[in-house]
Amino acid sequence: MQNNPYKVSKNVESLSAYTPGEQPQGGGWVKLNTNEFPYPPTPKIKTAVIDAMGSDCAPLRLYPDPLSGKVREAVAKHYGVEGKNVIVGNGSDDILNLIMRAFGDDKLKVAAMNPSYSLYPVLSKMQGAELLEFDFENETKLPFEKIFNSGANVFILTSPNAPLGISFSLGDLQCLADNFKGLLVIDEAYAPFSGFSAAKFAAGRKNVLTVCTSSKGWGLAGMRVGWAVSDEGVICILDKIRDSYNVDRLAQAASIAALQDEEYYAEKIGKVVKTREETEAFFASIGWKFYKSASNFIFVMPSKNGVCGRDVASGLFDFLKSEKILVRYWKNDMKICSGLRITVGTDAEMQKLRESILKWIKE
Ligand SMILES: *Cc1c(COP(=O)(O)O)cnc(C)c1O
Repeated sequence: MQNNPYKVSKNVESLSAYTPGEQPQGGGWVKLNTNEFPYPPTPKIKTAVIDAMGSDCAPLRLYPDPLSGKVREAVAKHYGVEGKNVIVGNGSDDILNLIMRAFGDDKLKVAAMNPSYSLYPVLSKMQGAELLEFDFENETKLPFEKIFNSGANVFILTSPNAPLGISFSLGDLQCLADNFKGLLVIDEAYAPFSGFSAAKFAAGRKNVLTVCTSSKGWGLAGMRVGWAVSDEGVICILDKIRDSYNVDRLAQAASIAALQDEEYYAEKIGKVVKTREETEAFFASIGWKFYKSASNFIFVMPSKNGVCGRDVASGLFDFLKSEKILVRYWKNDMKICSGLRITVGTDAEMQKLRESILKWIKE
C-alpha cells in the first residue's frame, strides 16, 4: 500500500468519529431514535423563511448577520437575560466544540458523567484534552466530591441526562457552581421537556454556562441552531473563536420565529409530556424498569420471561427494526447495553410501539 503524502494530526488519527443515530432515507419508519420533536415547528416559520429568502432569493447573495443579533435577542427574551449573555451556534454541537477549543487542551482536562452525550469524548480528543468520566452513585446521584476534586477545567453536565432522561435539582446545580473550580457547562438540550432551565442562573454567575438547541424542543433539527447563555466574559471568549458567519440567514429567521411563538410550543410540549407519562405507565404495567424521564425520551430496560440484559435488549431492538420502528441502542457500551432509549413520538407512533412490544413479548 502506498503511503499518504501527508501526516494526520495525532489527535485526529486516534479519533473515532461520533456515531449519529440512523437517519433512514426511505419512508414508512416510526423514528424514535434521535429525539427529534414529534410535531412540526410553528407554522410561523414558513413566512419567516420565505421573507428571509425574498421573492427572488436575492438576499441569499449576502452573508448573514455575523452576530445572529436578533436570535441572541430572542434567546435573551425567552430566558429573561440580556443579549450580551448569549451566543448562537450552528447547532449546539458547534457551541460544545467552541467550549472544548477554548477551555480544553493537553493540560486543561474536561470531565463529564458516563453515561452522557457521546459527542463529548470526540470533541475533547480532537483538542487533545483528557476526558475524565464519572459514574453515577446509586444509579442517578452525582458524585459531588469526585467532581470537585477532579482538577478538571470544565465539567459538562447533561441536564436532563441523555441517555437516561433523569433530571437534577437546582440545588444540585448550585452546589456544583459553588464548589467546582472551573467552568460548569450545563447541556440543556432536553430542558424544554423538564419545565426548568438554568439559563438565568448561568447568566448571573461567572463560571456557569448553559447550552441549548432548537433541535429538540423547537422541532428545528433540520435547521441547525443552538445557543449558550453565560457570563459576558465567557461569551466574549467563545465569540473570539467561532466562524464569523456560523448561522445562515434562513436558520436565523426560522429560529427567531420559533423562539417568539411561546404559546405554540407550550401546547406541543405539554402533549409530549402527556404522551411520555402514558408511555411510562405502559412500561410500568408490563413490569419493565425505566428511569423517570424529564426529557422527550425514555430509557427502558426490557425484559422477557423475567430476564433482562444485553441479549434481551438487543433482541427487542432487532425486532422493532423489523417492524420499521427505530429506537436507539448502544450494544457495545456495557453500562447501557441492557436498555433502549426510546424517543417520545406522537400518540399514534407510541400506539404502534406498544403493539409491537406486546407482540414481541408473546413471540
Ligand atoms: C441533540 C443533542 C445536542 C445537539 O444538538 P444540535 O443543536 O442538534 O447540535 C447536544 N447535546 C445533547 C445532550 C443532545 O442530545
